[in-house]
Amino acid sequence: MTNFAATKDLFHLPEGMIYLDGNSLGPLPKATEARVARTITAEWGEKVITGWNRAGWMAQPTALGDRIGRLIRAEPGHVVLGDTLSIKVYQALAAAIDLVPDRKVILTDSGNFPSDIYMAEGLIKSLGRGHELRVVAPEDVENHINDDLAVLMLTQVDYRTGRLHDMKALTAQAQAVGAVTCWDLAHTAGAMAVDLQGCNADFAVGCTYKYLNAGPGAPAFIYVSPRHIDNCQPALSGWLGHAAPFAFDLDYRPGTGIERMRVGTPSVLQMAALDASLDIWDTVDMDTLRAASIALTEQFIAGIEAACPHLTLASPRNPQQRGSQVSFAFADGYAAMQACIARNVVGDFRAPNIMRFGFCPLFIDAGDVDVAIDVIADVMGQRLWDDPTYKQVARVT
Ligand SMILES: *Cc1c(COP(=O)(O)O)cnc(C)c1O
Repeated sequence: MTNFAATKDLFHLPEGMIYLDGNSLGPLPKATEARVARTITAEWGEKVITGWNRAGWMAQPTALGDRIGRLIRAEPGHVVLGDTLSIKVYQALAAAIDLVPDRKVILTDSGNFPSDIYMAEGLIKSLGRGHELRVVAPEDVENHINDDLAVLMLTQVDYRTGRLHDMKALTAQAQAVGAVTCWDLAHTAGAMAVDLQGCNADFAVGCTYKYLNAGPGAPAFIYVSPRHIDNCQPALSGWLGHAAPFAFDLDYRPGTGIERMRVGTPSVLQMAALDASLDIWDTVDMDTLRAASIALTEQFIAGIEAACPHLTLASPRNPQQRGSQVSFAFADGYAAMQACIARNVVGDFRAPNIMRFGFCPLFIDAGDVDVAIDVIADVMGQRLWDDPTYKQVARVT
């Protein structure tokens, strides 16, 4: 069991703010500042280059990877951190494509995050081997899994609607026709229990700045099943994925196990921030977290539907079929969200008309949800959004 009243106290939340955007950028754990400061002063400052060995910087990507591995039930030693999620998608997909050389179809859905789709398109183009990216509606994916499928590439929770794919069933279905799977856990890692081993997943990737609270620009992670890793030829063959980086060979030889999915120099300061946030995550029971998240999203949906007839639920109504976010559709959703933010209820907007709210039990409780419902009800009921200042679209929405 996890005591969420206690975890809430471990975060710095701006005074008076109800922060419903931890699904996009997690808030700052109170311990992070001192942890990063220590890395700067005592490690970088005092140890300078010896920090790579003496402060363990070079081992961080796998050491921290194992702590994330517990949250997603990966085998120890099979998760590594580095780069951004878009890069990790590219690596995973390139390796997956190579495992099924005689097939050309990559299947994804129209709810996937555009960067995953763009990376797949770019990879297909540079491979030049005639692969086809097939993009179908989320609910149609299972009907397109057939004998020409090479790779099923999905984001488990739809960033816009919160719709949750059945990872276990779709993985089994894809594997039954001889395909491999790449799962993007951007909106699942830290949102709910994930069981990569139980799902027999092939590849998985995710990020640490959303639910995992490691800060803007924090590194992504990649998982490769133990049954595949020795057959993966890294498409991004950087020196730190080499078997012996400090031999400075002129020929690339992939490193042992998941180490080969490393590319270049790790982001040590961001990893220090991740280390501090994982100190919290190490104590969290994921089943308790999921139960608390469902209670919050159910409370929010009931309250908003009772108070705001102009908002239409865009997330699955069945909590077992959605992640840890709730989305409502509203034509003037951008302005409405700006009006909420101006009143310290912070969610975000996703084009064309989605108001998105994330629920992280580590720092959001039932009292916060009640306040948020009241504020949103005021914004909608009194048309407070209908103000030109809320209609100026900023660079980041
Ligand atoms: C947030 C997110 C990304 C972002 O990728 P970055 O390279 O970290 O900017 C990619 N894919 C999905 C599914 C996401 O939710």
